[in-house]
Amino acid sequence: MTQTFDVIIVGAGMVGAALANGLGRAGLSVALLDRETPAVFEPAAEPDLRVSAISAGSESYLERLGAWAGMRAMRLTPYRRLSVWDATPHPFSRLVSPNLARTTFEAHDLGCEHLGHIVENRVTQRALWDRAGECEGITRITDIEIRDVVSAENVVTVSLTDDRHLSAELLVGADGAQSRIRQLAGIGVTRDQYAQQALVASVRYRGTPHDITWQAFHPSGPRAFLPLHRDGEFSWASLVWYDDPARISELKNQSEADFIASLVKAFPAELPLIDRVPGRASFPLARQHAKTYASGRVVLVGDAAHTINPLAGQGVNLGFQDAQALQEELVEARRAGQPLAAPERLQRYEARRRPANRRMTLAMDLFYYTFSNRLPPLHLARNAGLALANHLPFAKNQVARYAMGIDDQLPPLLKQLVDRAPRPAFLK
Ligand SMILES: Cc1cc2nc3c(=O)[nH]c(=O)nc-3n(C[C@H](O)[C@H](O)[C@H](O)COP(=O)(O)OP(=O)(O)OC[C@H]3O[C@@H](n4cnc5c(N)ncnc54)[C@H](O)[C@@H]3O)c2cc1C
Repeated sequence: MTQTFDVIIVGAGMVGAALANGLGRAGLSVALLDRETPAVFEPAAEPDLRVSAISAGSESYLERLGAWAGMRAMRLTPYRRLSVWDATPHPFSRLVSPNLARTTFEAHDLGCEHLGHIVENRVTQRALWDRAGECEGITRITDIEIRDVVSAENVVTVSLTDDRHLSAELLVGADGAQSRIRQLAGIGVTRDQYAQQALVASVRYRGTPHDITWQAFHPSGPRAFLPLHRDGEFSWASLVWYDDPARISELKNQSEADFIASLVKAFPAELPLIDRVPGRASFPLARQHAKTYASGRVVLVGDAAHTINPLAGQGVNLGFQDAQALQEELVEARRAGQPLAAPERLQRYEARRRPANRRMTLAMDLFYYTFSNRLPPLHLARNAGLALANHLPFAKNQVARYAMGIDDQLPPLLKQLVDRAPRPAFLK
């Protein structure tokens, strides 16, 4: 027997689950599939190793979906300040005072209570999953694999490993960077592996949670601190250490005590005194972009469509913007009596999202290549850039508003810089 829906979404990660909630609440019938049921939140559990900086724009979206209250009831940590600086040791650094070349964004300069929140991925995912369970139009299916996808003239049919068959007008691939739906639809990607990997670690320190997230740029890669929740007399934080794969592998295999010693040596003095590091994991980093976001009755969102360098924590925020744009197009198609997979609708979705996703990819690469080297002229230029940012509060605040998802346009000067920067062939 075949169950019929308006839309099938494969992948109940943060982006797929958000899209399901949006479509379900707009009156469409949705099947939301994942190979795993998102874990139940355990307040006593150590933090998830995967955390994301959720922008103010994404917070409003999650609030509209009714998931933010659930996330807040689990746990999330606001940050009010964001600081970045160049930590490259070099003779030229003596020419510039460290404070001059350090840029700090403050929520109160922007008239906001906070710049964003650091949230464990499993908290966001579970809150969206629970919220989807409250919507009559959404059917949640887990512990399955996709066996096959067959597109016909009016429907697409998905066969599951438990012998169920589901059909719909449209199939959404929200199944992450290695998307099987993208592969089954024959959509290729352009991909480039970065020379750096990211090691993430949950760390505990005595004291109250910090209200700042910071990132020190070293030629071997940035080192970042993201504050997490309070735990009695202690607080948690997530650290991200970008470096070459050999160094990352060495760090990953150190004992807890040796790793803490490495942190003390390599991280800036801002790092609180760490007493425990229960978890560490590393991630290869690649920028990847699907050659098209839609083919026939299949459309891609989130990491299935694009991955970027995570150094400014923008990946899932872009995915949420994809989900909102696709939802608007599908709801409009339904209102206008059009098929949900109408090519002009899916093309419009891609036209709305591809340039924005590409621009963010390029902005991240501009940071990555400008900071990941010791070349004296670039060292001077980036310090001058950071110092200039401090003296141009309007432009600085515009950058912050863009990163927070409040404005969707970069300041004109930076936009030109990003658009004109030499770019890898695949991004042209
Ligand atoms: C080190 C690091 C730090 C990051 N920090 C940030 C940050 O601070 N802020 C930010 O915005 N982004 C950050 N990102 C990026 C962010 O994690 C991703 O953009 C985000 O997780 C993408 O969400 P998604 O729902 O598209 O995909 P995923 O999170 O990959 O979810 C995909 C879902 O699909 C399911 N699935 C996969 N294959 C199948 C299948 N065949 N059948 C059924 N289900 C399937 C999976 O189980 C999963 O639930 C970071 C990334 C890294 C690597």
